[in-house]
Amino acid sequence: MQKQTPHVESWGRTIKVSQTIIPLFWQPEKFPRTQENESFLPYGEGRSYGDSCLNEGGILLQTRGMNRFIFLDESKGLLRCEAGVRLDEILELTVPKGWFIPVSPGTQFVTLGGAIANDVHGKNHHVAGTFGRYVRAMEVLRSDGNRWICSPQENSELFGATIGGLGLTGLILWAEIQMKPISGPWIDQETVRFSHVDDFFKISEDSEKDYEHSVSWIDTLAQGKHLGRGHFMRGNHSSQKDDRSSKPKTFSIPCNAPNWLLNPFTVRAFNVLYYHRQLTQEKRNTVHYRPFFYPLDAVLQWNKLYGKRGFFQYQLVVPYKNDREPIKEILRLVAKSGMASFLAVLKTFGNIPSPGWLSFPREGVTLALDFPNQGSKTRRLFEELDKIVRTSQGALYPAKDATMLAQDFQSFYPRWKEFEKWIDPKFSSSFWRRVAEGQGTNG
Ligand SMILES: Cc1cc2nc3c(=O)[nH]c(=O)nc-3n(C[C@H](O)[C@H](O)[C@H](O)COP(=O)(O)OP(=O)(O)OC[C@H]3O[C@@H](n4cnc5c(N)ncnc54)[C@H](O)[C@@H]3O)c2cc1C
Repeated sequence: MQKQTPHVESWGRTIKVSQTIIPLFWQPEKFPRTQENESFLPYGEGRSYGDSCLNEGGILLQTRGMNRFIFLDESKGLLRCEAGVRLDEILELTVPKGWFIPVSPGTQFVTLGGAIANDVHGKNHHVAGTFGRYVRAMEVLRSDGNRWICSPQENSELFGATIGGLGLTGLILWAEIQMKPISGPWIDQETVRFSHVDDFFKISEDSEKDYEHSVSWIDTLAQGKHLGRGHFMRGNHSSQKDDRSSKPKTFSIPCNAPNWLLNPFTVRAFNVLYYHRQLTQEKRNTVHYRPFFYPLDAVLQWNKLYGKRGFFQYQLVVPYKNDREPIKEILRLVAKSGMASFLAVLKTFGNIPSPGWLSFPREGVTLALDFPNQGSKTRRLFEELDKIVRTSQGALYPAKDATMLAQDFQSFYPRWKEFEKWIDPKFSSSFWRRVAEGQGTNG
């Protein structure tokens, strides 16, 4: 294993830390010797936004080179592969054979290990729950050299701690997942425009039974009678079989955009145009799975649009069944601030329990918002939003987070103490030292 020191970031690019990188190409037998206080952290594709995939002053085990497929049982849809395989690579192999990943985040450029360690959710949470529910087994290498096979039946405590375990319980070497049968790569999609967040809840409730996937884009600047207006996208895997898809077209943001690019005027103009792009209230079509699940992946390195200072993503979940006031208050505050960008996603989570001890999804409504980094101005808004999340018994998502307070993390994730016992003694992260040990500064 060779140490390197290239610059590695997380997706939001607000946190600049120095760390040593060890690229892994094979499943390691053991870990290299370290200095006394030096720790390890696995790193997949760095698609987490804040510091949960960073380890200041420590070592990142870069897993992308561990990217071999081990087997695919085509009759049962059981797939085993190394943890550095990316979801797009899995889909390329399995879609033509009639299998899809059971739960997919909004980008396919994440590794299998990363998807497990954040127990990611997708547009089908209301019917499918989280990614971890489909992990049938995995192997975890600990720093003492022991390899543990774990599953819901075998070494189930390490299994529960590792799903959503933020990379702290050891290095996942491979995992076996249950895929979902599909007829082909197409999605029958419907887009419904709604003019207020109350309508969002109504459409969401009406869609739950008949649609496997749903998510909404909202206009974060709209206020008053248009508060939380947006487009509700829902869809099902189509029975259409043919694969006439060509390679996806992508383009790349070559350099940092100027800081002024995303300002309230450009964002407002985008939001108004985007909201009115659909002239009819409802639109139906059949689309390839890529634009349906991964619209942002068409623009590689879109995070550079936020300029050198980077951006934050703030993702929360709050209950809404008995009281919609908290989410409305959050939307009002965000609209009044004028600070959020055009990337804003609203979705309900169902009541299917997540298998990980630190999994984020829980019943409620989740809102994910991107904010250009404007320093203390952005943080002051987050403090206001945090108060509402706290008092309404919601939670923030570690995979997106760069600013959560230690006391908040500990109350949002009450099993964190139990989890701590399973942390590998040689593993740590900047996020963990911030939220569990109260060290370090935010972003
Ligand atoms: C555009 C975009 C859309 C997104 N949409 C969603 C979404 O809809 N739902 C959702 O839940 N998330 C979403 N995310 C977040 C993303 O899915 C998670 O942050 C994911 O974990 C990133 O995977 P990664 O491979 O990049 O891992 P990294 O970000 O590099 O690491 C994430 C965590 O996994 C750990 N890890 C990585 N590999 C291993 C391993 N082999 N063994 C043990 N631990 C490991 C790391 O230590 C770290 O704690 C989105 C991110 C982006 C950029």
